[in-house]
Amino acid sequence: MNGPDHYAVIGNPIAHSKSPQIHARFAEQTGQQIRYERLLAPVDAFEATVKAFIASGGSGANVTVPFKLEAFRFANELSARARAAGAVNTLHVRDRQVFGDNTDGVGLVRDIVEAAGVQISGKRLLLLGAGGAARGVILPLLAESPARLLIANRTPERAAELAAQFSDQLVPIGASSFAELNESFDVVINATSASLSAELPPVPVTVFGSNSFVYDMMYAAQPTPFMQLASGYGAHVRDGLGMLVEQAAESFHIWRGVRPQTAPVYAWLRSTL
Ligand code: NDP
Repeated sequence: MNGPDHYAVIGNPIAHSKSPQIHARFAEQTGQQIRYERLLAPVDAFEATVKAFIASGGSGANVTVPFKLEAFRFANELSARARAAGAVNTLHVRDRQVFGDNTDGVGLVRDIVEAAGVQISGKRLLLLGAGGAARGVILPLLAESPARLLIANRTPERAAELAAQFSDQLVPIGASSFAELNESFDVVINATSASLSAELPPVPVTVFGSNSFVYDMMYAAQPTPFMQLASGYGAHVRDGLGMLVEQAAESFHIWRGVRPQTAPVYAWLRSTL
C-alpha cells in the first residue's frame, strides 16, 4: 500500500482524545511519515472496527475506554506486561499477526522516575484502586524494586485478588481497605476513577507525609481534588498528563522503532488544557 503508514486511536467516545495531536508532534519531531486518526467503534463492534481498519492497511492502533479487554482478546501475540495487565492499549500489525502490548504502566513509571525525577526503588508504595488502570501499572512498578507495594480499594476484595495475582514477585505486596490505612507512604498513586467525577477516594490523610510524592492518573487544567488535599499535607503532587504522553511515546517506539522526546510535547499539551 502506498502513502504513509496508517494508525488510529479506537474508543467510544473518542472525539476528545488527544492522541492524534501527540502522535502528530512525535512524527514531526522524528521525521516519520505517518497518518493517525480517531476511530469511533460502536460499543458492540470493536472487533469488526479493528478488522476493517487492518484490512484497509492499518499498521497499528491505540485502544482506549471501553475496549482494552477486547483488544487483549483480539491480539494474536501478547507482551508479558500486557498479559500481566489483562488489557491491551497498543496493537501492532506485523507479519500478518496482531501484537498486543500495554504501555500505560511503563508510561506511568517513566513519568514518575524520568520526568518528575522521583525514584521508586526502595520506596513504600500505595496504589489506590483495583480497576484496569491499577492492574496495568503493577508489573512496571514492581520492576523498579520498591520496598513494598500496598493496594487499597473501595471494594477491598478486588485489591486482595489483585495482590494475590502478583504474589510470586520479589517485592512484598499486600491489600487493604481504605479505612484500614494507618501509616504514611513515600509514593501514593491514585488509580481510582474518583477524580473523573471530582470526588475524593475516602483515604485517611495519614497516608500523606510531608515528603510523600502523590500522583493522580487523572489530569485537568487545575489540580484534582485529590492533589489539592495531598498538597495541603505538604506532599509533592503530579497529575496524569505526563503518563498520557509517555504511554503514547512507548506506543510510537513500538510502531516506528524511534523514541520521541516527550518533554516538549508535554509542555505543549499542558499549555492547551
Ligand atoms: P475502572 O472502572 O476499571 O476502575 C475504577 C476504580 O476506581 C475501581 O478500583 C473503583 O473501585 C474505583 N472507584 C471508582 N469510583 C470511586 C470513588 N468514588 N471512590 C473510591 N474509589 C472509586 O477504571 P480504570 O482503572 O480504567 O481508570 C481509573 C482512572 O485512571 C481513570 O480516572 C482514568 O482516566 C485514569 N487513567 C489515566 C491514564 C493516563 O494516561 N493518564 C491511563 C489509564 C487510566 P471499586 O472496585 O470499589 O469499584
